[in-house]
Amino acid sequence: MIKQANKVFSKAKAYAFAKRISKGALDLCLPQTCLGCRTVVQTPDFSPTLCAVCWGQLHSADTLRETMNFMAEEDHYDSFTAPFLYEGMAMDMVKNLKYGGQRPAARLMAQQMLPYIEDGADVIVPVPLHKKRLYRRAYNQAGDLAKHLGKLSGIEVVPFGLTRVRHTQSQVGQKADVRRAQLKGAFVADETLKGKRVVLVDDVCTTGSTADFCAQALKEAGVLYVQVLTFAFVEPKVGG
Ligand SMILES: [Zn+2]
Repeated sequence: MIKQANKVFSKAKAYAFAKRISKGALDLCLPQTCLGCRTVVQTPDFSPTLCAVCWGQLHSADTLRETMNFMAEEDHYDSFTAPFLYEGMAMDMVKNLKYGGQRPAARLMAQQMLPYIEDGADVIVPVPLHKKRLYRRAYNQAGDLAKHLGKLSGIEVVPFGLTRVRHTQSQVGQKADVRRAQLKGAFVADETLKGKRVVLVDDVCTTGSTADFCAQALKEAGVLYVQVLTFAFVEPKVGG
């Protein structure tokens, strides 16, 4: 019996080893391609990246820093930061991560978000998906970003620090007031976060409503400080 168990174990180990070797061999044989345009790029460690042209198509959101500060004053979170504007390449990356199954992009995106994490952060919490949507999509893109940010920064990630208790319709193209009404009471925060400084992570911020309601839930659970950090930020329309 023990012998048989050993046999099964070693078979599983051999299989895992073979899989690792073949993946490594594939990495060596297949050239790395740009996540944006699929041209061949050179990377020293085979990590996902963009070519120089695609890097140039990411537009910094620094020009909107004042708007972000204003949003943070109005809403339940304490600060808001995003490295890029939600347009062009940044928009493609978000869509490919969210709908195109391009999960390796999350690492590159997290690398760009990393310098924006404020000092003193205790935990990283992703904006959650409702379990119905999580089941359909199989992964939470914000969760992937949080996981990579945790690995890169060494800050603890609490994947289910927030739970989405109410399923909401897709918010794409909906008016701000409709979005807000739908999101009211949609999130609950874990009480273990009490007294912590939280980095709330998402792929994109459109109106700030989702972040606001998440931050509200976090504050109700006794969270001390909420920094919202998203990869991209939608420039607000004047008068809209
Ligand atoms: Zn490219």
